[in-house]
Amino acid sequence: MGRWIINAAWPYVNSVPHLGTFIHLLSADVYARYLRLRGEEVIAVTGSDEHGTPIEVEAIKRGVPPKQLTDRIHKQICDLLDAYNIRLDNYTRTESPVHIKYTQALYAKLYENGYIYTQNVNLPYCEVDKRFLPDRFVEGTCPHCGYEQARGDQCDSCGRVLDPLELLRPKCVFCGSTPTIKSSTHWFFDLPKFRDRLYTFVKENKQLPDNARNFSLRWLEEGLKARAVTRDNKWGIPAPFPGAEGKTIYVWLEAVLGYVSASIEWAEKSGKPDAWKDFWFAEGTRNVHFIGKDNIPFHVIIFPALLQATHEPYILPWQVSSTEFILFEGQKFSKSKKIGVWIDEALKYAPAEYWRYVLIAIRPESKDANFTWREFETHVNAELNDVLGNFVHRTLTFINNQFDSAIPNPGTLDEEDEMIKKEVEQAPGRIASLLDGFQLKSGLAATIELARRGNQYLSEREPWHLIKTDRTRTATTLYVASQLVGALEILLSPFLPETSQRIREQLNLTESRNWSDSGKFRLEGGHRIAKATPLFHKVKATEP
Ligand SMILES: [Zn+2]
Ligand SMILES: [Zn+2]
Repeated sequence: MGRWIINAAWPYVNSVPHLGTFIHLLSADVYARYLRLRGEEVIAVTGSDEHGTPIEVEAIKRGVPPKQLTDRIHKQICDLLDAYNIRLDNYTRTESPVHIKYTQALYAKLYENGYIYTQNVNLPYCEVDKRFLPDRFVEGTCPHCGYEQARGDQCDSCGRVLDPLELLRPKCVFCGSTPTIKSSTHWFFDLPKFRDRLYTFVKENKQLPDNARNFSLRWLEEGLKARAVTRDNKWGIPAPFPGAEGKTIYVWLEAVLGYVSASIEWAEKSGKPDAWKDFWFAEGTRNVHFIGKDNIPFHVIIFPALLQATHEPYILPWQVSSTEFILFEGQKFSKSKKIGVWIDEALKYAPAEYWRYVLIAIRPESKDANFTWREFETHVNAELNDVLGNFVHRTLTFINNQFDSAIPNPGTLDEEDEMIKKEVEQAPGRIASLLDGFQLKSGLAATIELARRGNQYLSEREPWHLIKTDRTRTATTLYVASQLVGALEILLSPFLPETSQRIREQLNLTESRNWSDSGKFRLEGGHRIAKATPLFHKVKATEP
């Protein structure tokens, strides 16, 4: 048995997540469910990332205090996670007192350890709005790739982390005027001190996917710069350094610490306040992050450096499952341009379970994926409904109608029956090896493939004809098919927990089971099942 910390990228709560950011929460949920079925010890944590300039911009636009905005969206996300069956051990927020306290203590420690120093810096300043313009308060052209809507902290096009003064043709996001330059004292984290250790960490971590490894090595080879920890913003966590009154900590440099603080909060809530150390301070714990490729620098470089700077025995990320982007009908998601689907609206088009299926089926593991309504329809109608739903339903209704709802006692298994048996036996190992390699998409496809195999088996056997001439062979066929349904009940449960639960109820199963039980023919002849009802219905691809 192993210990795991499963982390999903913290949704930034200027709005509810769209499909492209929700995929990380969903992946973490699928993975945590899978590990639990395998008997592993797991904590799965994340929360709402609510500080920073975009929230302030949004709050100013709406004329409300930032906290009022994030309170509302945080609550909305909690309800939506429930609706999508995302069951994490702790979904918290960066305004949580535990997070604030942890962040301040960590930076006080870094100061004590000599990794924080002050420097006067020139910053863009808007004379019209009378404020400094850090991060996303300023936009301009990226000096590296020429993208024209690069923000002061990062370029969305090439992914590089930026300093606001590097932007060409900068503009204040509030009034559009060209900022002047003004000096302010800021506190810096001495990131370059960690360059060699980080290089070894990235080189030696064999788990990291190519996109994370290559991006990080390139950045480390280009050379690291000290990062400003403080900001002149009011909305954020007050900086704990002597003389830093009125300054707050840069949102990215505190939100990544949420993985630890959310674990501490989980431990406190479960009445074992030190239990988080059994995970974070235990060599051998596997720390997995489900994030998008745009977040690689903060998870592979900055977060590990912050943990190392404490001189405490933190484990570093073991795996950063950094997916490519999901595009929407060929374009980037954009709230302002109304391109995309957000997870609250998505439920108007189809039930949550259908979204769970389609999102994992298109999970962008090696290249960008393109969400289209047509493809959504195909995945739901031709796979969920016609393959999975159809196989389970026709097997169980046949048993309802022809065998008085009792799993038939089989005769001798012939070669074809034995082949199905063998496929069931091999399924948990085969699918586990895909999931162990973080290939969630292939793991799901292999599961659906079993249902396809079941359909094929039934079509070849034609029990609806066979029953008129050979009741024993029919009994054997339905016995075998029902075992396949039993395997699917377990194998599907990380991906489609509600469907799995419904199959479980229809099979009338109550005893607990684990992942490897899916390889067994575990339904006994004579076991009574419940009445079958269809699992899915077809959807139409047009937007309502
Ligand atoms: Zn760029
Ligand atoms: Zn301005």
